[in-house]
Amino acid sequence: MTKLSNSLAAADIAHSLHPYTNARAHERNGPIIMARGAGVHVYDSEGKEYIEGLAGLWSVAVGFSEPRLAEAAARQMAELPFYHTFAGKANEPAIRLAEKLVEMTPDPLTRVFFTNSGSEANDTVVKLVWFMMNAQGRPKKKKFLSRHKGYHGITVASGSLTGLPVNHRDFDLPAIPVVHLTCPHHWRFGHPGESEAAFTARLLREAEETILAEDPDTIAAFIGEPVMGAGGVIVPPEGYWEGIEALCRRYDILIVADEVINGFGRLGTTFGCERMGFTPDILVTSKQLTSSYMPLAAVVMTEAIYDVIADHSDKLGTLGHGFTASGHPVATAVGLENLKIIEERDLVGNAARLAPSFQNGLRAFADLPLVGEVRGMGLIAAIELVADKATKRSFDPLGRVGARAAAFAAEEGLICRALGDTLALCPPLIVTDADIARIIARMGRAITRTG
Ligand code: PLP
Repeated sequence: MTKLSNSLAAADIAHSLHPYTNARAHERNGPIIMARGAGVHVYDSEGKEYIEGLAGLWSVAVGFSEPRLAEAAARQMAELPFYHTFAGKANEPAIRLAEKLVEMTPDPLTRVFFTNSGSEANDTVVKLVWFMMNAQGRPKKKKFLSRHKGYHGITVASGSLTGLPVNHRDFDLPAIPVVHLTCPHHWRFGHPGESEAAFTARLLREAEETILAEDPDTIAAFIGEPVMGAGGVIVPPEGYWEGIEALCRRYDILIVADEVINGFGRLGTTFGCERMGFTPDILVTSKQLTSSYMPLAAVVMTEAIYDVIADHSDKLGTLGHGFTASGHPVATAVGLENLKIIEERDLVGNAARLAPSFQNGLRAFADLPLVGEVRGMGLIAAIELVADKATKRSFDPLGRVGARAAAFAAEEGLICRALGDTLALCPPLIVTDADIARIIARMGRAITRTG
């Protein structure tokens, strides 16, 4: 280690509490300090090069060195570095980005509310839906349906929607009325001998029985990621989303598509709901919206929802919700330029074109003794490691084997994310065939070294 990175590491250990990190282990092991990015690569403070196989946190569509985003930020910083959007104030980049989002999202979505993060966006969804139900004189209609293994963030409301034990345990969540349905993962949760079609039918029956048992008049909305990300990259079976959409329409339940990972090309379509064949009432996006160069998220809703909220805010005198940085001019300027780049370079098309080589290349690992399942769609995938291939028995719940495999991958020059013993990949959308070949080769070596 250089002297500088030694002292930086010591300062980090002395002063930081890291998110999603075992704090005591971090004190022993210290940080990997990322110093620089170039295309699909990042470089740590020792100069070691990695392919960022998770695009940071599923988010850096345009790679780690896009000068146009730096220029867009600098231009806006010089012109108007900050202004808020409270009390009818507006700024050009926020207006233009809202307009662009309405153009890009499915047709019925017409109105945009900006937040700083995906968690705040989903919190905003909960609050706006509750506000809407109260406005309509339906104060009982407040529950959310979500899924086990769904990930919607970590604030009090969005963390409640999330269906992962680690986000609930000892945080006293869920703290809002939410019912978690079975995760639509056939390989893991299908009964022995149950076909994918029978599994889908069972989950849809369960959803309907839950709605009826809870009383449809108490259920406001269903929230789901079209393809789940942080829960382990789970592609629902054929017919699942169409069935959920039909149930929601039958029982007057709003559909919220959490597209924080799927949005802007991840599945080879602009949005995941297009690929999965359903139309949401509310769509939530973040991450690839700015390629995470700036924190930004957006809640996009139908005119019908907007109308109820607008009328009620008129009655009450204001909409009592909003963040200091809602519609931040620098973040929205970067978002606008980022979406331009995604369109000009046809990165959605690139994801669709490269999906077969990425998915098929990884599926070649399915025969390795440690590999239970390889799954994914577009440019997102996961490899689940198991203790026993025949019975699908998992390793211990601490995810130590996954962590070891991810550490081997890092040694090989590939960053992936270990979600328990599932290794997730979600490379920048600018990847080339050659990058994909390197990702697959490095992942193969990491898994082989693991066992
Ligand atoms: N929703 C989904 C689908 C996500 O993947 C994430 C983050 O990974 C979030 C919401 C929360 O976003 P943030 O971490 O910006 O709060």
